[in-house]
Amino acid sequence: MRQLPLWLLPGALWVGYAAGAHVFTLTAIRRGPRGAHRVALTFDDGPDPVNTPKVLDLLGDAGARATFFVVGERAASAPDVVREMVARGHEVGNHTWSHANLWFCGPRRTEREIARAHEAIAELTGRPPRFFRPPWGMVNLAVFPTLRRLGTPCVLWSLQPEGLRPVAPQEMASRVLRGIEPGAIVDLHDAEGVPGAPGRLLEALPPMLEGLSAAGYACVPLGELLSPA
Ligand SMILES: [Zn+2]
Repeated sequence: MRQLPLWLLPGALWVGYAAGAHVFTLTAIRRGPRGAHRVALTFDDGPDPVNTPKVLDLLGDAGARATFFVVGERAASAPDVVREMVARGHEVGNHTWSHANLWFCGPRRTEREIARAHEAIAELTGRPPRFFRPPWGMVNLAVFPTLRRLGTPCVLWSLQPEGLRPVAPQEMASRVLRGIEPGAIVDLHDAEGVPGAPGRLLEALPPMLEGLSAAGYACVPLGELLSPA
């Protein structure tokens, strides 16, 4: 049998380490039980010191509670916003320390990205985060042992109204209201993911929350969605 040229080896190893690890996301949480009219709104990439408090007010007005997957270094620079999330009954999850693309992080940096944010959130909120979401949903082989050690499962989503391209606020709300079903996990952004995302979210949230409530859905934090009723 002919051997692979040696120069191909690093590329082949990387493909296995990064892209190949996505096989493990088959076991990631993407939705909750379908038994009740409950859904989880999740907000990634914050906290944003200006926009996240406005999101908290809109959620409060609608009687909705949610989960914020915060970036560790942003959380550390806006600690009051993170404490306010907890004070208002929301949940705080881990979205890495610096929003690193884990496809390009070796095992040591992967461990640091996840563990450092985990510790910072635990310190800020008084309790360790229960869930982890990888930036852009991208993982590598080193992610899963770290998540097992920290006891934080990987959570993706069942509904993402805005992916890599900007979506107008009304359309974002409509996509959620069209796609919503019991147990859905909705992925939203309260800080820059796609440029301008927080501004569009602030416009999309009121009709989205109103529509969800009119359809009889309760918005609850992930821990409640996933725990048996
Ligand atoms: Zn993100």
